[in-house]
Amino acid sequence: MEESDLKEIYRILLEEFGPQKWWPAETRFEVIVGAFLTQQTKWSKVEKAICNLKQAGMLEPYGLVKVNITSLEEMIRCCGFYRQKASRLKSIAQFLIEKDMDELFSLPVDQLRRILLTLNGVGNETADSIILYAADKPKFVIDAYTTRIMDCMGVKGNYEELQKIFENALPKDVNMFKEYHALIVEYAKSYCGKKRCEECILVNGHRKGTIHGQEQV
Ligand code: SF4
Repeated sequence: MEESDLKEIYRILLEEFGPQKWWPAETRFEVIVGAFLTQQTKWSKVEKAICNLKQAGMLEPYGLVKVNITSLEEMIRCCGFYRQKASRLKSIAQFLIEKDMDELFSLPVDQLRRILLTLNGVGNETADSIILYAADKPKFVIDAYTTRIMDCMGVKGNYEELQKIFENALPKDVNMFKEYHALIVEYAKSYCGKKRCEECILVNGHRKGTIHGQEQV
């Protein structure tokens, strides 16, 4: 895939859906909580859990550390894997109390990423979501939607390979990275999830030659 193709896809998605203004959160901590809760569940369920936490005054590290684990599990039950997620939220809250968040987020991206990946329940996607949307640093998030769409465009690769393709092709622009990931999610929900492959503007663009693609990374 040529570098200009990813810029063209961004332009097409932005034209189709307009700015998404992600991540929908009021604080950096809310982004982090959302990044954990959204694992293996729909965003609509995360919204409900976030609302429960907000109403209970638990959407800050001290609140989460102090709250009884059973109460926390109840508040986030709608997100699934609620026992595991409650325990992980308590761990990350404790971690963020011990490490100053401003100091943590001022670290260089690679160092920050290495630290996040040592935390319980933090994989590539969660770490990069936190780096991009909470720390405001340019790290491109790859999720299952991105992998699927790239696959349809003939681009195959693992997480790191796909991430490198995006990061090499795009300017290191935090806002663009934020928008691009959000637009991919929106596209996947509107087209891939609704099986609108016949109308797929990305693959059709690929066929027409306005967007290219390649057989293998
Ligand atoms: S709409 Fe269909 S063809 Fe297009 S990217 Fe999604 S899954 Fe692939």
